[in-house]
Amino acid sequence: MQVKTFGVIGSGQMGNGIAQVAAASGLDVVMSDIKAEFCENGVATITKNLDRMVKKEKISEADKAAILGRITTTTDLKDMASADFVVEAAVEREDLKFKIFEDLDKICPPQVILATNTSSIPIGRIAARTSRPDKVIGMHFMNPVPVMKLVEVIKGLATSDETFDTTWKLCGDFGKTPAEANDFPGFIANRILMPMINEAIFCLYQSVGNAEDIDTVMKLGMAHPMGPLALADFIGLDVCLSILNVMYDGFKNPKYAPCPLLVNMVNAGKLGVKSGEGFYDYSESKKAEVIAKQFL
Ligand code: NAD
Repeated sequence: MQVKTFGVIGSGQMGNGIAQVAAASGLDVVMSDIKAEFCENGVATITKNLDRMVKKEKISEADKAAILGRITTTTDLKDMASADFVVEAAVEREDLKFKIFEDLDKICPPQVILATNTSSIPIGRIAARTSRPDKVIGMHFMNPVPVMKLVEVIKGLATSDETFDTTWKLCGDFGKTPAEANDFPGFIANRILMPMINEAIFCLYQSVGNAEDIDTVMKLGMAHPMGPLALADFIGLDVCLSILNVMYDGFKNPKYAPCPLLVNMVNAGKLGVKSGEGFYDYSESKKAEVIAKQFL
């Protein structure tokens, strides 16, 4: 199936990154959000990323202008009617994703594939809200999208081979390497990553070590590019909590129970980089220094 216009729902951390790589691959992109200012923030982030690439001479000013010129934004989901393929990257809430897929199913022509960037919600549950479960698939990009090479492609029980093949090929067009996963809670990436992050939070909660020492052990001792607590801040603590809860509920296994400290931090609005505070302080004066220190 030929994809020319690519729809992205949500212009946050993931959505704007997905819009950037899709536009860089030559597709026309329609990126939506609930408020115009959120769309503007998304475009501003893309512009900043592209400026950095121009500075590093990875792309020219003309490339940057062409990529930005291929991206339009909207606050009206009905504009997804022009897309040949849509990926949803709105917040990780089941009720919200259900509503978006019900609406997209009415708006988009029947041949259009509806993908979700969900970190943890079963693809089958989302697919069941549509009249085209064979055309619903997981397309799980990693953060930051323009940098990270992997896309987990998740097949629901009803996902057709044609939908899978089109999605797999798009990943390649975006310069990414896909990996196939089946539809079980957490898929592959988060099934392995989140218990590690949760255990690091338990180490902090039980005063086994402070945040910097826990991260240093994993960076220098295990050659991880970032420590698990810094990574959790970067992913968003609300996102981590919601993924752990999905795995906890899905497997009914206490090993996935989120650490009470994580729950308390999310309740207090300490969500990591995006809220200015998580396990580290990302207030404007400290952000650059803290982030530089956390990446090796
Ligand atoms: P985010 O909070 O940065 O962005 C979500 C955006 O969706 C916000 O701008 C919000 O306004 C918008 N939104 C909410 N309701 C909407 C609607 N009805 N229509 C359009 N837009 C709407 O979140 P994020 O980190 O970009 O995560 C988005 C999705 O990607 C989630 O499902 C998350 O689990 C998944 N994901 C996140 C990461 C990560 O590291 N942050 C990695 C992989 C996957």
